[in-house]
Amino acid sequence: MLHSICLASPLHNSHFPPPKFNNVQTPTSQIPNTNLIYHFNTPLELKQAITILIKTNKPLTLLPLPRVASICALTPNFPFAQQIFNYINQPQIPLWNTCLRNLAEGNNVIDAIFLFHQMISYNVVPDSFTCSFVLKACVHLLDIYNGKIVHGYVEKLGFQSNLVLINALIHLYGSCGAMDDAFQLFDKMPQRDIVSWNIMITQLAKKGDVDGAFELFSRMQERNLRSWTAMITGFVHCGKAKEAIRLFIEMEEMGLRANEVTVVAVLAACADLGELELGRRIHEYSNESGFRRNVHVCNTLIDMYIKCGCLEAAKYVFEEMKERTIISWSAMIQGLAMHGQADEALELFNEMIKSGMRPNEVTFLGILHACSHMGLINEGREFFASMSRDYKISPQIEHYGCMVDLLSRAGLLQDAYELITSMPIKPNAVIWGSFLGGCKIQKNVEMAEEAMRQLGILDPFNDGYYIIMSNIYAEAKRWEDAARVRKLMKDRGVKKTPGWSTITIAGGTHEFVAGDDNHPQAEEIFKRWDKLLEQMRLKGYVPNTSVVLLDMEESEKEKYLYRHSEKLALVFGLMNTKSGETIRIMKNLRVCEDCHAAFKVISGIVEREIVVRDRNRFHCFKDGLCSCKDYW
Ligand code: ZN
Ligand code: ZN
Repeated sequence: MLHSICLASPLHNSHFPPPKFNNVQTPTSQIPNTNLIYHFNTPLELKQAITILIKTNKPLTLLPLPRVASICALTPNFPFAQQIFNYINQPQIPLWNTCLRNLAEGNNVIDAIFLFHQMISYNVVPDSFTCSFVLKACVHLLDIYNGKIVHGYVEKLGFQSNLVLINALIHLYGSCGAMDDAFQLFDKMPQRDIVSWNIMITQLAKKGDVDGAFELFSRMQERNLRSWTAMITGFVHCGKAKEAIRLFIEMEEMGLRANEVTVVAVLAACADLGELELGRRIHEYSNESGFRRNVHVCNTLIDMYIKCGCLEAAKYVFEEMKERTIISWSAMIQGLAMHGQADEALELFNEMIKSGMRPNEVTFLGILHACSHMGLINEGREFFASMSRDYKISPQIEHYGCMVDLLSRAGLLQDAYELITSMPIKPNAVIWGSFLGGCKIQKNVEMAEEAMRQLGILDPFNDGYYIIMSNIYAEAKRWEDAARVRKLMKDRGVKKTPGWSTITIAGGTHEFVAGDDNHPQAEEIFKRWDKLLEQMRLKGYVPNTSVVLLDMEESEKEKYLYRHSEKLALVFGLMNTKSGETIRIMKNLRVCEDCHAAFKVISGIVEREIVVRDRNRFHCFKDGLCSCKDYW
């Protein structure tokens, strides 16, 4: 009697239920552990299983053969493999393949590579399935060495027109950073499918060559959703959010419907650009498409809303989430911190700990930001200590940056200085820059000079530091020193970073640069500003010309001040939106003290909420006040 064994084809998912023993004569008690026939894990157990079969007069083919193969092949010099394979007199290769596939898709991927070598040593010639399973393992392990061995077989055995194999090889080379090899293969392909193109686009974009990726994308005769998504994601990763959005709109016009991966990429682009309207539309689309359960989509939605200044919407998404990851919690904590809601950030942190979630370095960055934005010195110190003490997370330079920021703003310049000089990582310009900012608030000229000495070496072409230093001298009435810093800046060829602000109205983004009089509505904007200024003066606004560093008459300085990009954007927004509507502005630099004071007054006059996202954080102006409570 020979039991027929289903030798699963390599593409068939193998699962081996124990056959029924209806006609077994021997009482079960006399069979020593029949279970072993199906569940052996070691060569010894396999030997025992074989003994059982022989004793009970059963064919060896009852054994789950892929299991036999794994054990034999992974055990050097174990001759049973050959014996059994010979005995069952089946083509051996499908058996090896089943086994290879199981290993390549399982948890011990590296065993697939060992098994492959064992198979070669038994003089078994691989077929195309073998190659594809081993390549799968190679991609997983980023193992280009064994990938090249498989590539050799592909060439030798004449599989050059097998698209699956060549695509897998391109994928492997690309993932391992060997783009030249990938390109060579791609160029040589007698025919390509969409997958080949998509892999090349993805890999080029991952390597940062987004132009090369787009060139290929443009050359594609036929594209599918994956092609579009790969290109959109590529643009996002390379910081080209505008291009990503443009491509997404084009994709929609072609009638393609975005999947979760596309949605995540587009939302990230919206977050970068502050494109709230599109972000909201994608949110609705995600709800309709059932993506709301996807944690990545929700996390990106939270990030998008936070970066667009809609804290409430971010909270709503967070609350609605059934399952949250550490990314969700960290994003929310960081968001609350950026919006100046330190108490809520701390509360959320505690809630997270209670829920059993373990904080990571990003969570701590958020919580330290919260402390630093609100001047919570003791809390900040405690969290900083807790990082390494309770969670074994070594503080990174960013964490030190937060602490220096916290201490220097709070006036503890000496403590901040000691932290900088004792930290185990070399302090960078950001750290000294925070310290310099603290020196300005505290009006400490000597400490500022020390910071400036360091910054002159670490980041000599950053105009911001010279401006702060010159301001510090000016406030101390040391005019000559102030002039000397400005001259130094000029001599070194340091250019002032032009300030710009954007505002999105009815889907269109409008950009303003400081002093901009080229805007089509410039005349009207200036007129409207003059009117607003009258009302502002009545409310006690006095222009703060100390933020202007140029040598000019006081009245000229004022005029200069009134042309700051965020002011232009705000007036434009007031002119082109309905009354009562929230105005959202994004600025590339830190908002200046004068604009901050002006926006507070204006928010009261026009009875509107004005949200400004600057380089560091959000300011939400409402009823004459700012959410930062002037601590920024
Ligand atoms: Zn300003
Ligand atoms: Zn503020």
